[in-house]
Amino acid sequence: MAPRSLRAGLDMNVQRKTINTPVSISGIGLHSGIYTTVELKPAVPGSGMTFIRADLEGLRIPALQASTTALDYATTVGKDDVSVGTVEHLLSALMASGITDIDIHIDGPEVPIVDGSALPFMHLIDAAGVRELRAEVALLRLREPVEVVDGDKFIRMTPSNRLVLKYKIDFAHPAIGRQSYQFDYDQDNFLKKIAPARTFGFVRDVEKMRAAGLARGGSVENCIVLGDEDVMNGPLRFRDEFVRHKILDLLGDLALIGRPIAGEITASRAGHALHSRFVAKVLAAAARSDDDLAEASPSEPAFA
Ligand SMILES: [Zn+2]
Repeated sequence: MAPRSLRAGLDMNVQRKTINTPVSISGIGLHSGIYTTVELKPAVPGSGMTFIRADLEGLRIPALQASTTALDYATTVGKDDVSVGTVEHLLSALMASGITDIDIHIDGPEVPIVDGSALPFMHLIDAAGVRELRAEVALLRLREPVEVVDGDKFIRMTPSNRLVLKYKIDFAHPAIGRQSYQFDYDQDNFLKKIAPARTFGFVRDVEKMRAAGLARGGSVENCIVLGDEDVMNGPLRFRDEFVRHKILDLLGDLALIGRPIAGEITASRAGHALHSRFVAKVLAAAARSDDDLAEASPSEPAFA
């Protein structure tokens, strides 16, 4: 450990949190079309967020970047050949609620899509109640910017004491076009402005996706369906619901860092695959700066 004087200004601890009481929700999986039940249960401090396959002898899959196995159209975590898909909307709600430790029991391969947003999960967490644990976790804050780029897509993070997510999208579709949104991390802000934003899909992609085993549970009940010209199952919940949903997805993918984070993050035209590369780069940078701190940890006082 570095002397307190060196770490000051880098460390900022937040209280670890779990839920008060078990709660459950059931529904169809967007991609698998399989009906599952998720039961959220309180967990011990330091255990993190963990998926537990209740139908497979309680196999545990930590909700961490190292567990990600697939990133096409949704984020999947797995271990050996067992997985849990479309974890991002639930993880986004948990992250927004400040939950650090929770057991997520699930009896099948995909989290229910419910209405396509994070609102049902926010209501579920609210029904369970959130409780502070007697332990703290250090907020991940980097001193240097981190960036990932893929052609005209990028995600960049600059140091900040707060978490701010800015997103820009540009779809060649009359109902979407260019949209941008800035979300200042705050639970109430998330509940009102981000959580209700639903996932979206294009009719023109459905056949191809279904052939690939995707979108099998998708319907007008659980996603915004876009025809060639317009939204087929309006009205939208927000005019810019699409970019708000991208922020919802990004926050869910950031949960795989495994601890709360601060920074000003700007994403442009990204998706789950680039979110994941970004998280990996943030984790590598955090590991390096922990090494720096360890090296700057002499037995003599640092400021002799
Ligand atoms: Zn999504």
